[in-house]
Amino acid sequence: KQQGRNNFQYYMAPEKTEAQLERFAMEAMLRKALEKDELLVYYQPRIHTKSERVVCVEALVRWKHPSLGIVPPAEFIPLAEETGLIVQLGEQVLRKACNQIKRWQNEGLPELSVSVNLSPHQFRQQNLPAVIARILRQAGLRPQYLELEITESAAMQNVNRNILMMRELKEMGVKISIDDFGTGYSSLSYLKKFPIDVLKVDRSFISGIHEDPDHAAIVNAIIVLAKTLKLKVTAEGVETEEQYIFLRQHHCDEAQGYLFGKPMPPDIFEEWVRLNTT
Ligand code: C2E
Ligand code: CA
Ligand code: CA
Ligand code: CA
Repeated sequence: KQQGRNNFQYYMAPEKTEAQLERFAMEAMLRKALEKDELLVYYQPRIHTKSERVVCVEALVRWKHPSLGIVPPAEFIPLAEETGLIVQLGEQVLRKACNQIKRWQNEGLPELSVSVNLSPHQFRQQNLPAVIARILRQAGLRPQYLELEITESAAMQNVNRNILMMRELKEMGVKISIDDFGTGYSSLSYLKKFPIDVLKVDRSFISGIHEDPDHAAIVNAIIVLAKTLKLKVTAEGVETEEQYIFLRQHHCDEAQGYLFGKPMPPDIFEEWVRLNTT
């Protein structure tokens, strides 16, 4: 046993150094990617359930690494958040998304809004409203076409400061949604104080609609709650026809998920829109 423990320590130490090295290398690579503009933005449709039309798209970042290929956000957003690189990254995503939406509007594609994810770190930047105003102005995009997604758990940290930030953003005319709703232990009294427009029901509840009666009940309760608070409600991670039918029956306003389309690069998304709106 004694020996086993020693072995454990012996093997652990170098591994930790390796992890640190890897993290360091990753940070350097990410920094370079930001400089070289290697980030891509993919777009996933959000479907208005009543009209069955795409009304909005969520912008989701991808890192196109020269040798690793397309790296998903789960593998670099946490690092970007810890190192503060998220501020620069987030600005690039916002700029690309706003420019893209404006371009599609100019090309006569059906009018779309875009929702962009904001990290907690970004949301704490005092100059966030000024940054967003500048990006909108430079893109020539009207603010009502931009929605900002902040996760429920981030929104619930330092609520009073967040309310002030949300108010400032709302005054500019942009929309605000609470992402991953249902996972972050919201206080309902705070939820009422947030000047928000949309609740996005977390995927974990949607996937359980037909397996777990509790999940179906929770999804229904969130839809009712949203209606009571006069908020729009979007379901994320809709993968099956059955889930979609449930959501329509319960008057969920919007649905997003692989059933309709995965996040797509701009050219593929454009084709998708043309195919799905005629
Ligand atoms: P999220 O904001 O909750 O985004 C939804 C995620 O669910 C996306 O993963 C999307 O591809 C995935 N998804 C959509 N529909 C389905 C479905 O039907 N089934 C399943 N299994 N998954 C589905 P993705 O693109 O890998 O992004 C993961 C997370 O990374 C996002 O979760 C978001 O928190 C973060 N993220 C992505 N882009 C950005 C960004 O530009 N800035 C920041 N701060 N975070 C971002
Ligand atoms: Ca999101
Ligand atoms: Ca989400
Ligand atoms: Ca999520």
